[in-house]
Amino acid sequence: MGAVAEGPGRGLPAVRPDLEELVGYHSAQVDVEVRLNTNESPLPPPDGWLEALAEEVRTIEFNRYPDRQATALRRALADSHGVGSDEVFCANGSNEVLQCLLLAYGGPGRTAVLFEPTYTLHRHIARITATTVVAGARRDDFGLDLDVVADIVAGADPELVFLCSPNNPSGRADGPDEIKTVAGLVPGLLVVDEAYGQFAPSSALDLRRADPAGTRNVVVVRTFSKTWSMAGARLGYMVADPEVVAACELVALPYHLDAAKQAAGRLALGYVGEMERRVAAIAEERGRIAAAFADLAVETWPSDANFVLFRPLTKPATEVWAELVASSVLVRDCSSWPGLTGCLRVTVGLPEENDRFLAALTESLR
Ligand code: PMP
Repeated sequence: MGAVAEGPGRGLPAVRPDLEELVGYHSAQVDVEVRLNTNESPLPPPDGWLEALAEEVRTIEFNRYPDRQATALRRALADSHGVGSDEVFCANGSNEVLQCLLLAYGGPGRTAVLFEPTYTLHRHIARITATTVVAGARRDDFGLDLDVVADIVAGADPELVFLCSPNNPSGRADGPDEIKTVAGLVPGLLVVDEAYGQFAPSSALDLRRADPAGTRNVVVVRTFSKTWSMAGARLGYMVADPEVVAACELVALPYHLDAAKQAAGRLALGYVGEMERRVAAIAEERGRIAAAFADLAVETWPSDANFVLFRPLTKPATEVWAELVASSVLVRDCSSWPGLTGCLRVTVGLPEENDRFLAALTESLR
């Protein structure tokens, strides 16, 4: 029996001791007019998608469990990437894909390697699954130092290595040659989190296609939460070797993907052209923000994603963050994250939202 908490009445068991230090992953949910803190799409999904989904939801037999294999959704995703259905695994957001990978391949006595600064949930989910985390550092420009990667991987002998490309929160994508080199170095799985993959010049999916045997250990994780304007639907997936897909199916709960979500994802794939236009428009706005930063007292880094990292140079980041909130603009305060001292991250929004942000930032730094 574990320790039992003290207190009047019946005690509750203590939470797992290795979870006690975990600080939840929270982006401040503040009531503001301009929300540029969680890298969502600023636009709702296309009207046609919503109408088609509403139509289809009427036909769902809600008294029955959904298709456990998510057959039609997986087939549609497989076709869109030119892979087999047995290479696709879907889950409730890409976070659940990451959790399934860690449940299947991580756990007590196993190790995951990551390179900071990077997406904080890689570490967080690894710890929830009792996987040992070994962290290496990226270079100051947020690129990968392949010597550091080789050393850390050789020392840790990990079951999983995580890369995030484009990386959140730096925005920088790792090059295909670098990713291929890392895939050759790692003894286990190389998980490439491409939550922002549509904004990047290349994808690890191309590496898998070009050299299936040499990249068998490469897992590419994607989401409907960003480009697809469907963060509220909670749908993500991975493209991986069928053996990795089967391993994730072992740990996913039965019927974890509800019928409406399966339809939502499948129908969304009919709007690739619209999504590509949106990606182009957001990239243009990103360029406008970067150009405006050149005239402000901030340090910033080139982004291959739908957000931009910046460091105010004349005022503490937390003060700037609070002044932006006072102007009803919410950005992400990354200033306490490893390797990101003094940094804030802004999601690219609609042109008028970006104007509000730039005006408030200019005022704050005046
Ligand atoms: N990976 C990265 C790099 C992200 O930034 C996010 C969202 N913040 C996710 C995964 C999770 O996305 P979701 O669970 O909504 O698919």
